[in-house]
Amino acid sequence: MPGKIWFVGAGPGDPDLITVKGRKLLEAAGAVLFTGSLVDQAANLYTPPDCEIRDSKDMTLEEMTDWLLDAAHRHATVVRLQTGDPGLYGALIEMTRPLTAAGVDWAVVPGVSSAMASMAAARETLTLPEVTQTVILTRVAGRTPMPPGEELEALAAHKTTLCIYLSITLLHKVQEALLAAGWPGTAPMLVVQKASWPGEEKVVRGTLADIKQKCQAGKIGSQAMIVASPTLGAADWPDLVRSKLYDPVFGHRFRKAILAPENPA
Ligand code: SAH
Repeated sequence: MPGKIWFVGAGPGDPDLITVKGRKLLEAAGAVLFTGSLVDQAANLYTPPDCEIRDSKDMTLEEMTDWLLDAAHRHATVVRLQTGDPGLYGALIEMTRPLTAAGVDWAVVPGVSSAMASMAAARETLTLPEVTQTVILTRVAGRTPMPPGEELEALAAHKTTLCIYLSITLLHKVQEALLAAGWPGTAPMLVVQKASWPGEEKVVRGTLADIKQKCQAGKIGSQAMIVASPTLGAADWPDLVRSKLYDPVFGHRFRKAILAPENPA
C-alpha cells in the first residue's frame, strides 16, 4: 500500500501559524515538497532529520506528480506544503487528480490564508456590523484570465471587503476598477507585504488615489495583499454600530438579555 499525501496549508509565513495538525504531519513526514520561498522555514523546522525535503519552485506539474508518487511508494506520510490555504490559488485539483488516478490517497489540511494574516497585521477587521458582512477573495487578471462576471469592477460594485491576491504589480488595474465601480479616490486602502513574516512584514496605508505611489515609495513589489474595505480604520471611528452578539439587549443560546430594548419592536 502506498502512503498518503497530505496537502498542508503552512499559513502566511510565520512558522507558528501552521495548524497543530499540519505541524504533526510534518513531524511524521518521510518526504516534504514545499512551494517556493514562503514556507521553507516550516518545512525545515518541524521535519525529522532524515526527511527528504524538496523545493518545488523549478518543477512542472508532471515533475511534482512523479516526485509525490515516488515518495508515497517509500513513505507512509508525504506532505505537500503550500502557502496560506491550499485551496486558494494553490493548483490543488490539478495536483490531486493524477494522484487519484494512480490510486494514491490524499487529504487537505487547511491553513491561515494571507488575507486573514494581512488584516491581523494591520489590526483591522474583515467584517463590521451594518458596514459590511461580506468578504470577496479575488485577484485581477494576469496570465490567468478572470471568468465572465468576475471582473474586479463588477465585484467591487458590491462595496464589500475585497482581499486582492496576486495583483500587487497590477495595482493600477485595481485602482481603475474600483474607481469605475464608484469607490471614491479617498477610500482607505491597505497593502501588506509578507504578513506575519518575523521582521519582514510591511504595512502600507493609503487611499485609492495614492496607494500606488505609497507602495512604490515603500518598494512593495511582490508577496503583498491588497485590501479595499469600508471597515478600514474603524478602530478610530467616533461612532460604531455594535455587534448584536455582545449587546446586553440581546440574549441568545448561551446568555440571557440583561437590559430591555429601548424601542421594542
Ligand atoms: N494560498 C495562499 C495564496 C497563494 S497566491 C493563501 O491562502 O494565502 C500568492 C499570493 O498570496 C501573493 O501574490 C500575495 O497576494 C498573497 N500572499 C501570500 N503570502 C502572503 C503574505 N505573507 N503577506 C501578504 N500576502 C501574501
